[in-house]
Amino acid sequence: MTILTKPEAEPVDTPSQPFLSVRDLYVRFSTEDGTVKAVDGLSFDLERGSTLGIVGESGSGKSVTNLAILGLHNPRNTEVRGEILLDGQELTGASERTLSHLRGKKMAMIFQDSLAALSPYYTVGRQIAEPYIAHMGASRKEAKERAIEMLGKVGIPQPRERVNDYPHQFSGGMRQRVMIAMSLVCNPDLIIADEPTTALDVTVQAQILDLLKELQQETGSAIIIITHDLGVVAKVADDVMVMYAGRCVERGSVRDILRTPEHPYSWGLLGSIPRLTSSVDVPLSPIPGAPPSLLSPPPGCPFHPRCTFTGEVAGDICSTARPEIPAGLRHGSACHLTAEQKQTFFTEQIKPRLR
Ligand code: SF4
Repeated sequence: MTILTKPEAEPVDTPSQPFLSVRDLYVRFSTEDGTVKAVDGLSFDLERGSTLGIVGESGSGKSVTNLAILGLHNPRNTEVRGEILLDGQELTGASERTLSHLRGKKMAMIFQDSLAALSPYYTVGRQIAEPYIAHMGASRKEAKERAIEMLGKVGIPQPRERVNDYPHQFSGGMRQRVMIAMSLVCNPDLIIADEPTTALDVTVQAQILDLLKELQQETGSAIIIITHDLGVVAKVADDVMVMYAGRCVERGSVRDILRTPEHPYSWGLLGSIPRLTSSVDVPLSPIPGAPPSLLSPPPGCPFHPRCTFTGEVAGDICSTARPEIPAGLRHGSACHLTAEQKQTFFTEQIKPRLR
């Protein structure tokens, strides 16, 4: 029996050419009410073997960004501008044929809802085998062996028997493992996981995140994990991008973002998560207000209508001038507060509330 494997890894990229490079990405949807500016000038890089966590509330542009990378938007009402280079290959404007070839083989998505993502009518073995047949040119017999191998790899007991079961015969956590097996069957170089553990209880969540890390160590793939849960980010991410209103408002290493966050929105996200160690006297602090409509985002800093620090910035700059992340910083934030103010406000006002 020959199990097909990917060809040898291509030469390692030079530092000047990241594995995934997104530059000035804009995604706009045409709706009856107007144009939704879902992603507004986003740039980031990701290297092989690294994990980028993208965090933010619903509607911040996290999922739309990743659907644009995968080329899964509806071309009839969506405009995607900018540059998305995957291993040197331009994805913006690539044909559906090229993108569909890349999806599954070179990049794959793990969805939040395994019950919706898996067909109830086919065995899990068949659903894992299909992309292997389509992308790797395997025979049905070879693909079934590969499905069994993948089920074993993701920790499904007795994979040879279970390969013939249907999705409803698995628990939620086991189904999520099946979906990971399906996404990774062709050893993709880029894995995009959209809230992969949200529907799972905490213990299973930890197992799935451990599994993703183990598989990454084995294959050297790059991972983007989209989540609203900073606990997930703390567990798996190397770098973090905080998104708000379609823009990156802060980026840095996971340590930077969790220990010395700079942006008032990041402070709000950190303050609104419950901690086991929190004193009962310290209430959670939800971020006031709601995310802005992306049909008409506010001028200036998009967070200004909800920000409690606007008074610390001279004049009406927060509501008129759009802050940018200074170029060249590994850890940086798009906020008009000075570096000293960011440090002082976090240390004196925010950090004590996070204990
Ligand atoms: Fe708040 Fe102004 Fe900073 Fe925006 S730029 S986060 S409104 S202080």
